[in-house]
Amino acid sequence: MRAITPTAIASSSKCLHSWYLDCFGNPQWKRQREEGELLEQQRGLEYERKLISQLPALVEPSWDGRDWQDGHDRTRSLMQEGHPWIYQGVLLNGHFRGKPDLLKKIDGSSKLGMHTYIPIEIKGHKQISLRDRYQLVSCAMMLEPILGTIPTKGGVWLNTGVVADAEIEKDRSIVARLIEKMQDINAGKLKTESVRCGGCRRCLWSTHCENEWNRLEHACLLYGISGETARRFSRLGLASWRDVAVLTPQEISDRTRLKMKASISAVQHAQARQTDRPVIRGDIRLTDDMPIYFYDIETYGKDVYLHGLIRIFGNDREERQFIARDPSEEKKIWHQFLDYLAQDEKALVYCWADYERTFVKILKEKHGGNPKGLIHLETNLVDQCAWVKDRFALPLTSYSIKSVAPYFGFHWHAEDAGGLNSEAWYKEWLETGDESILEKILRYNLDDVVAMEEIDLALRKWVADSHF
Ligand code: SF4
Repeated sequence: MRAITPTAIASSSKCLHSWYLDCFGNPQWKRQREEGELLEQQRGLEYERKLISQLPALVEPSWDGRDWQDGHDRTRSLMQEGHPWIYQGVLLNGHFRGKPDLLKKIDGSSKLGMHTYIPIEIKGHKQISLRDRYQLVSCAMMLEPILGTIPTKGGVWLNTGVVADAEIEKDRSIVARLIEKMQDINAGKLKTESVRCGGCRRCLWSTHCENEWNRLEHACLLYGISGETARRFSRLGLASWRDVAVLTPQEISDRTRLKMKASISAVQHAQARQTDRPVIRGDIRLTDDMPIYFYDIETYGKDVYLHGLIRIFGNDREERQFIARDPSEEKKIWHQFLDYLAQDEKALVYCWADYERTFVKILKEKHGGNPKGLIHLETNLVDQCAWVKDRFALPLTSYSIKSVAPYFGFHWHAEDAGGLNSEAWYKEWLETGDESILEKILRYNLDDVVAMEEIDLALRKWVADSHF
């Protein structure tokens, strides 16, 4: 029997198939963690160490990391001694094992005497999530044999500094049912299905699952259809997007009870897949009476360290990048960027999704700047992703730029291109001063804006060729 951990329970609450793959999948099917994910992990650990350094009289069981029974015995001894805080205690209960970030001593009777413990998890987010709650319930269940009773609450130390309470009882039966299913899966009694869901982006089995969906032409590949809806489609004989493409939106809606707007979108996306061509959804007039900027920023933590853009007007085309060789230059490059924008009386600035918009607001408040440049960002900053999505159904599962641009033939120079990775590279640049890393970042950022330009060009060409 494979050991069940709080992390596996939390992941299984989103997707039981991940547990199936943990039990029976070939470990080689797992993808490697990306640099950005590793950086996030490292930051999480640093944050955790910073927080626990504030705790008085913190102890940690000393064990070899392999002999769980020994680690568990040592943890129980520390609990019997009544230490106020235990970091990374080792818990074991039959097939369950786990290491809650903290065990906090509180008043109350237990098998230990006139004190007891509750589990606390340290998280880098603002609000307690379902995943956090399930992790706490699993830790509480593992504490039961030591305490003689299950803790009634746990806590999540959020990045706001608040330790939010979580009631254990509320989720206990759900977690118990989930564990039963996990045991059935491990025993080969329960089958699972791989269906796209909110957990896929972070899941290390994602490449394997994507290959499966492509092989099966699975309906969950349709943009907007995932999780429960895809399972419902499957049960109703619409397992493949090919089944959806041949029906009308009304038929889809009648059969699946999906709202008409979602049914129209499902059929359009299925037809786009069937023909491997965009399907028009709205007004496709494209602006050409003013300069267009394609704009992308790079950030390091809360700092913006690079503004990259391409300006196009008629036959004029210029690529510009304003980079901070040190985060302290954020204000300087923001002003340089605004001065550059100010050359035009009117302009349209495209960004991809809302990331830039958020930082534009922050940078304006922090550093002010050229009002003529600012006005373009405040009145004419357009989310190109939403623009494309509203007007075209593409044969894609996601409208992230990393999906849309390759569909139109554009590819990034760096294989590991991604916002999080660029942050990891910038960290490396700050630590080493290696100019080749800075060049890699500039190339990656330029690729992002060229990708936006290429999408715009491809759609213009496609509209012209289609005689609209
Ligand atoms: S990639 Fe998605 S469907 Fe596949 S195991 Fe992971 S979470 Fe489940």
